[in-house]
Amino acid sequence: MIIGLDDTDSRNGMCTTYLAAVLIEKLENYGTVPGYPLLIRLNPSIKYKTRGNAALAITFEPSNDVDTSQVKALVIETVEEMAVFSDENTNPGVVFIEDSREKLCTDLRVFSMQAVQDVLEIEQAEELMGRHGISYQGFKNGRGLIGALAAAGFGLCGLPDFTYELVAYREIENRGTLRKIDEDSVWDAAGTPDTWDTVDYENKSIVFAPHSPDPILFGIRGGSEEAVRHAFSKTRSEPVERHVVYRTNQNTDMHLVRANVRDVQDSRSYILDGIVSKPPKTIEGGHVIFGISDNGAYMDCAAFEPTKGFRNIIRHLRSGDEVTVFGSVNDGTLNLEKIRIRSLDNYVLRNPLCCGKRMKSMGKGQGFRCVRCGAVKKDREVGIVGRKIEPGFYEVPSCARRHLSKPLVRYPELRLLRAHIP
Ligand code: ATP
Repeated sequence: MIIGLDDTDSRNGMCTTYLAAVLIEKLENYGTVPGYPLLIRLNPSIKYKTRGNAALAITFEPSNDVDTSQVKALVIETVEEMAVFSDENTNPGVVFIEDSREKLCTDLRVFSMQAVQDVLEIEQAEELMGRHGISYQGFKNGRGLIGALAAAGFGLCGLPDFTYELVAYREIENRGTLRKIDEDSVWDAAGTPDTWDTVDYENKSIVFAPHSPDPILFGIRGGSEEAVRHAFSKTRSEPVERHVVYRTNQNTDMHLVRANVRDVQDSRSYILDGIVSKPPKTIEGGHVIFGISDNGAYMDCAAFEPTKGFRNIIRHLRSGDEVTVFGSVNDGTLNLEKIRIRSLDNYVLRNPLCCGKRMKSMGKGQGFRCVRCGAVKKDREVGIVGRKIEPGFYEVPSCARRHLSKPLVRYPELRLLRAHIP
């Protein structure tokens, strides 16, 4: 059986991953939980999300003497006990997948990917579950069924790419207080090969612990269970109530769809090729905005203030540069997660030089005249401009990374170009 769970938390506490962690412990009294529980991040632009749009899936094999109805009752009872029903935005959903017919997987694969890349309606989840006889329980408006079914779908059909996160939870009496974590041990743990985003080296800060009152103490992200466990063993902190290693679609870029600028829709995430057609401008708040064009279609792209030093790369773009941008589109603007500068336009048209000075234009299409000797020239000349960036991939720092964003350390084939910005 695969159990999908979503939408049990509120901003003031709780977290669906914690509910799953507690549930796993309870389930182990009735059978086994093979493999890894899944921590699935869904469309990051969904307006209903509390924080990171997470949903969970747990694979469970009941012991011979256990009836599945007992298991379902236990899951529903746990959600009823732990979900924050008082929050108007908390609409839990629980899904139980009990068979693995090929047709079911075909439909679910599509649904689960849509939940990450697109916007779905509750009725679409209900229709699919009704058609395949999947049992489920929605609470309040049942919106959580979307995420619960999507996560269970990945549980049944597999993830095309995945990483791991070890999440450590706080003792109940410590929740809501300042987290006690030994900083030196964190910097030491952050050096564990095949882990990332424990610290932000560029901004010299620790980024693996939230600041909210939820039960999470910290999370260690990496490419294998061994790597995240190794980093965990080096981290000294207040007591850990429990910890779970999740397999996850975090840091895989699963949300990004290759598209043309003209086909872009709000609340979705894309990889777009374009040519810089509006040079970068820093606006109030320190956000840097520039525009790209592709076959006559235009898109604003933004490196927001929290992306810190990444904005210095963006500020050096010029019209004519060829780029590939990666990020989510909201209110008609692409929020940059990464950029690949494919080529720089190093050429500039200048008024011709004469007698050591630039010639003066005599009006549109009229040519240029030297103010000193009176010589006339018809055309502008091509000059070369020095650039402070190089072609290559650039990403936001760890402190600004979105859950689904694939960091450049996960592209082994890439030599990370770090342009020197004076
Ligand atoms: P946390 O990360 O703290 O666990 P959250 O950010 O996951 O919280 P939820 O409380 O789960 O937020 O709320 C997200 C809601 O949006 C859920 O009800 C989920 O089913 C729904 N949802 C997720 N993805 C989509 C989608 N692609 N289309 C429509 N609804 C979605």
